Amino acid sequence: MRRILVAGNWKMNGSTTQVDALLTGIKQGAAGVQHADLVVCPPFVYLQQVAAQLAGSSIAWGAQTVSKEQAGAFTGEVSAEMLKDFQCRYVIIGHSERRSLYGETDVMVAEKYAAVRKAGLTPILCVGELLAEREAGQTEAVVARQLDAVIALNGIVALADGVIAYEPVWAIGTGKTASPQQAQEVHAFIRSRIAAQDVAVATQVQILYGGSMKPDNAAELLAMPDIDGGLIGGASLKAEDFLAIGRAAPAS
Ligand code: PEP
Repeated sequence: MRRILVAGNWKMNGSTTQVDALLTGIKQGAAGVQHADLVVCPPFVYLQQVAAQLAGSSIAWGAQTVSKEQAGAFTGEVSAEMLKDFQCRYVIIGHSERRSLYGETDVMVAEKYAAVRKAGLTPILCVGELLAEREAGQTEAVVARQLDAVIALNGIVALADGVIAYEPVWAIGTGKTASPQQAQEVHAFIRSRIAAQDVAVATQVQILYGGSMKPDNAAELLAMPDIDGGLIGGASLKAEDFLAIGRAAPAS
């Protein structure tokens, strides 16, 4: 049975003081989250602080992006091996903000997926359609294209080492959430597309939903059969909201 994963994407938010307060709050309430694993993904500069504060806790941490390169003359970049140095377990790959604001293509995302796996870390691969694409009936085609690029470079079995996050772009940071049925439809599509190549991988892979998941809609979303957790933006910046989403996870 797949366990629920609740991952917080802090984006470019925080200060040492705020990180301290947020982690203190999450640690205090983590024992109340019985049916989900928790992960936080701070900006790179706070990874050392996060590693120190969460060491020995049940909460894992990760990064929000990574370089596809291993080392060398790549100013401003951070490699997967470096992230490992800070005991990161997860790396978010291909978030829609990286795709739209920083020009990350499907191929670049696939290369980053490879770099993360090579370092022994777990990629959280984001896929999802724009509003115009949904309205044009292209949701499945877009998600399939994003997924297939990763499979083409890494092989289907590589998905067993990763996590997928379905994030409809129109729902990210907008307060609009996909309905549980809309989300379930796409999650089931993703799982069936993987199953067409490898049933075992499809059964195992965790597929998270992301897009304005909050304490008041988490239980309904997490109750859907193919939704295995959440990638949380805004609500992950408040310890109580993040924990409440974790508590909404059903027993498996
Ligand atoms: C995200 O950025 O991955 C996200 C899901 O953000 P929000 O929860 O704020 O919509």
